[in-house]
Amino acid sequence: MFQKILIANRGEIACRVIDTCRRMGVATVAVFSDADRAARHVAMADEAVHLGGPAPSDSYLRGDAIIEAARATGAQAIHPGYGFLSENPDFVQAVEAAGLVFIGPSTRAIRAMGLKDAAKALMEKAGVPVVPGYHGENQDPADLEAEAGRIGYPVLIKAVAGGGGKGMRRVDDARDFADALASAQSEARNAFGNPSVLIEKYILQPRHIEVQVFGDGHRAVHLFERDCSLQRRHQKVIEEAPAPGMTPEIRKVMGAAAVRAAEAIGYKGAGTIEFIVDGSDGLREDGFWFMEMNTRLQVEHPVTEAITGIDLVEWQLRVASGEPLPARQEDLHITGHAFEARLYAEDVPAGFLPATGRLAHLAFPDWARIETGVRQDDTISPWYDPMIAKIVTHGPTRAVALRALETALVDTEVAGAVTNLDFLIALTRHDGFRAGQVDTGLIARDLDDLIAAAEPDPRARALAVIGLAGLADPAVKGGATLWQPLRRTISWDGGDALVEVLGPGAARVTLDGTPHEVRWQGERWWVDDTLRRNRIVRHSAGVSVFGGRTVTLVPLDPLARDAVAGGEALTLSPMPGLVKSVHVEAGQQVKAGDRLAVLEAMKMEHSLTAARDGVVAEVLAAAGDQVEAGAPLIRLEEEETA
Ligand code: ADP
Ligand code: ADP
Ligand code: MG
Repeated sequence: MFQKILIANRGEIACRVIDTCRRMGVATVAVFSDADRAARHVAMADEAVHLGGPAPSDSYLRGDAIIEAARATGAQAIHPGYGFLSENPDFVQAVEAAGLVFIGPSTRAIRAMGLKDAAKALMEKAGVPVVPGYHGENQDPADLEAEAGRIGYPVLIKAVAGGGGKGMRRVDDARDFADALASAQSEARNAFGNPSVLIEKYILQPRHIEVQVFGDGHRAVHLFERDCSLQRRHQKVIEEAPAPGMTPEIRKVMGAAAVRAAEAIGYKGAGTIEFIVDGSDGLREDGFWFMEMNTRLQVEHPVTEAITGIDLVEWQLRVASGEPLPARQEDLHITGHAFEARLYAEDVPAGFLPATGRLAHLAFPDWARIETGVRQDDTISPWYDPMIAKIVTHGPTRAVALRALETALVDTEVAGAVTNLDFLIALTRHDGFRAGQVDTGLIARDLDDLIAAAEPDPRARALAVIGLAGLADPAVKGGATLWQPLRRTISWDGGDALVEVLGPGAARVTLDGTPHEVRWQGERWWVDDTLRRNRIVRHSAGVSVFGGRTVTLVPLDPLARDAVAGGEALTLSPMPGLVKSVHVEAGQQVKAGDRLAVLEAMKMEHSLTAARDGVVAEVLAAAGDQVEAGAPLIRLEEEETA
């Protein structure tokens, strides 16, 4: 076993790898960018090496600096995590040339699976079923359109170099093919520097079922399947294992196909074979097709660990250090069912735009498995993936594990950045999902209901007002004496309410003209005679109510207002990027939190919102402008008050 390894990543996955290293007595070296000096993965590692600026190209993508850091610290091997350099064959080559071990597959295996067209051709030869379609070299638009006609609509155009759901277009009608092709190619050229595409039959009512494989370079085993059908725009939201409706017979056939795929390329380490499955009429032995292989540890690997009891990072370290495969196929078994939900800082109603912010409050249930790279008071910066945590639950049955996921999410508390938490909770309550009727279109079909179910409810807001009034502080809420008759207006950024104390432990909160009766009784909160599972938490950014749907009220801060010279406020570009759209014009009145503009940077879209109420004095950027970090975009002035 290695004595010391370097982890060439950040965030939750770097922390996850360090956890296993600690348990195995392997020393760890973290690397970090300027934005991550105080990050959790740096604090957890035995040593840490600074790489450079916050942009990935100046830090986590600098293979040369990372290899140098490994040498300087005496690390024997490099764990790449996922993303960044994990699937970059040139990096693997450089690591090996430096006399270090890359904890992952060979350069050859990564190259074989790197492009979707070549991978499909290779899999076809190995006898693995692939999605019917065209994956040849010819990229002539007319020929591609003819191929699409031959395959039969609907078809899916895919970037051969694609990943993360980018460069993909579904086409239902030949008339739309040319436009869809052009836009897929341009997205692929921008995102991957490679405009080549392939055409696939679009599988109706598709399910995404993938098989975890593990190889030693010659032989491979599989660790069963994960169902990742709950997706939004081809990106996974909640994953589970095993797949609903899977039978031992189909599992055997899919597992054997995945092992064949891995052995065909002499695969070493952890990998995932992704299949698209026709879910229109139950699962069938001839109803699954190879889509692609991810030659790394997958984001959702914890659900596999939960049902198999195996630590996949431990296996990675053991096989990379020269040990044989730790188990034979017949030693591997499934116990129970597991779910993983991806908690992101993102603005769901605004179209799931990535969000940023300082996590003024962060708490998780201690009984669920939580994978996170942040702590309370850390910042979700615009530079990286806005993931806050992965929440993983395991139970004897699917129903129990899903209830546990719902409870774990309800017990999760985040303030300081908007998140998809309420959306995730709504998903765990979705009837079709509960019944195991999953397909990749589920979220899109029911999106409006899922978002509406996540809208804040007035009773939780009434509790937040109680918090702002100071009536929920531990010393106050139980003590009758402090609930003196009182009537006052409580204001916060974006609204106000009237609070009238009615007696010990009872108050009336009038919000938007509607009175709500709040009581603290039997150590629980009641609103309008309904028992609430809510928790009221005061933190540095204000007051939040957790437990179902998060409500956060930020008190008005007169000092912060005065600090903005002359009542003006400038919205600055947080990073270099492209202004995608501007949503306000001069003279328009805006409220704190209103969307002002959308910036595209780091291949993601970021919503820029008003820091406070005001009137737009000047719009300093237009859609299509390339802007620098710190460039002024919108100038607000204080509303004229008579
Ligand atoms: P996976 O296929 O592993 O389940 P996704 O498909 O959701 O993951 O993620 C898309 C890709 O984005 C991943 O393959 C990974 O390479 C990259 N990615 C995701 N999160 C991060 C991150 N925190 N840092 C860097 N890259 C990431
Ligand atoms: P990426 O590299 O971006 O992960 P994939 O090839 O894995 O690309 O496809 C991503 C997602 O797109 C899949 O999980 C699935 O939801 C959908 N998808 C891919 N191929 C098909 C297909 N042929 N028919 C229907 N849906 C598909
Ligand atoms: Mg994929």
